[in-house]
Amino acid sequence: SFHKSKGQHILKNPLLVDSIIQKAGINSTDVILEIGPGTGNLTKKLLEAGKSVVAVELDPRMVLELQRRFQGTPFSNRLKVIQGDVLKCDLPYFDICVANIPYQISSPLTFKLLNHRPLFRCAVIMFQREFAMRLVAQPGDTLYCRLSVNTQLLSRVSHLLKVGRNNFRPPPKVDSSVVRIEPRKLAPVVNFKEWDGLVRICFTRKNKTLGAIFRQKRVLSILEKNYKTLQALQLSQSTDDQMATDASVLGDSGELTMLTDNDDDDDDMEMDDGEKKGSEFKEKVLGVLKLGEFEEKRSSKLAQADFMHLLSLFNQAGIHFS
Ligand code: SAM
Repeated sequence: SFHKSKGQHILKNPLLVDSIIQKAGINSTDVILEIGPGTGNLTKKLLEAGKSVVAVELDPRMVLELQRRFQGTPFSNRLKVIQGDVLKCDLPYFDICVANIPYQISSPLTFKLLNHRPLFRCAVIMFQREFAMRLVAQPGDTLYCRLSVNTQLLSRVSHLLKVGRNNFRPPPKVDSSVVRIEPRKLAPVVNFKEWDGLVRICFTRKNKTLGAIFRQKRVLSILEKNYKTLQALQLSQSTDDQMATDASVLGDSGELTMLTDNDDDDDDMEMDDGEKKGSEFKEKVLGVLKLGEFEEKRSSKLAQADFMHLLSLFNQAGIHFS
């Protein structure tokens, strides 16, 4: 019996398995990472195509079944099975990843792979159809979203194969697609946390204009908090012995935290409340949008280079997103 909670849907169509193997472009020298090998239908073909397979499987019953299947065959010394949660374990070296994964780990797994070093050549992964379409979506496509932008910053993604739900046992509720993800060898010159912070805000309402999004109080207050914290940090770094200031800027954990009101005391008499300063900061933010002519634009239409440009304009104005 299969575990729904573990996303256990076994590939039962051998032609489909062949077609995945063929599209993956495996070399006979490849170390292959498989995630969620289950009963080993894909594993067997991977062992035939590559040099060795490291398979990470959560379910101990599946691990046993897999070991039993290859015991005493010429494959057994080229297969290593790691029992555990792929999201929690250290990944070994691999050239290529081929996997039919449980769909609930799609997003964290994608970014775990993209953060893995040394870089692998490519990953060929079965995803839920909609997730796959989000990965490959381009500006203007309905499914274009934060996931598309972030994945495509770090990799080239392409759709390889549509897979109907009846290729699995038991059949899942959704159709699937196989996608190829090739990490970019030249890392983009951008701080990913900053990048993701900006993209996350831009896609909170992807069909609103950026002007409308950055006018929201919630967004402005987060950005202003970061802005002030960083300014105060820079101030305290330029003076040697201002322990008191340091303490007010850095919380107990050393993390950036919000400044208290009295850190701004000797500013200016007329500023008697946060209102005016708030609107000043708002003008600063809107000024950045105007400068790059972003105010009337919508995230759903912005390409990677646009986000890159917007981020650099914000950063030049001292506005940060992480
Ligand atoms: N690869 C097999 C096939 O194509 O027939 C099985 C695929 S099934 C969709 C997903 C497999 O991943 C199951 O065997 C399940 O036990 C395993 N699994 C679920 N969560 C996992 C996790 N966090 N880490 C590793 N394996 C996991």
